[in-house]
Amino acid sequence: MGSGKIFECPECGNRVELYEGIGMMWSHFDTSMFYPAKKGSCELNFYGEINKKIIKEAQKFIEESEIARVADAYLQPYICEKCGKFTTKLYFRIESEKGTYRPKYFCRCGCKYRRLTKKDEKHLHCAECGCELPVPKELCWD
Ligand SMILES: [Zn+2]
Ligand SMILES: [Zn+2]
Repeated sequence: MGSGKIFECPECGNRVELYEGIGMMWSHFDTSMFYPAKKGSCELNFYGEINKKIIKEAQKFIEESEIARVADAYLQPYICEKCGKFTTKLYFRIESEKGTYRPKYFCRCGCKYRRLTKKDEKHLHCAECGCELPVPKELCWD
């Protein structure tokens, strides 16, 4: 189950959808799965828009561990600290005896994305025209 919000710019019509949680499409993703870390043995199957570089990093982390576990995975809204562009990304966490791996996402402007907070949501601007965005439409999905 998850929830989503659709922001629509009144000026230019630009639409951004934000999602939170885990939906049907992620249910195959067993977060209790352990990966005995053997070279080439691990395959992370993430659907959707996820950066190939992030997948590579995560796989490298797993392969360098003795045993690794996907501890968490869910969709999470992010916002760019610099340009204010916001989007939905897959947050996940892999734990092993070496420590924890979390993906770091970067905006096209080169700046780091951080988690979008409830407070941010009240002051979101359109990335296309800079116009302040009105209250979004809410939706639920499973
Ligand atoms: Zn706009
Ligand atoms: Zn940016």
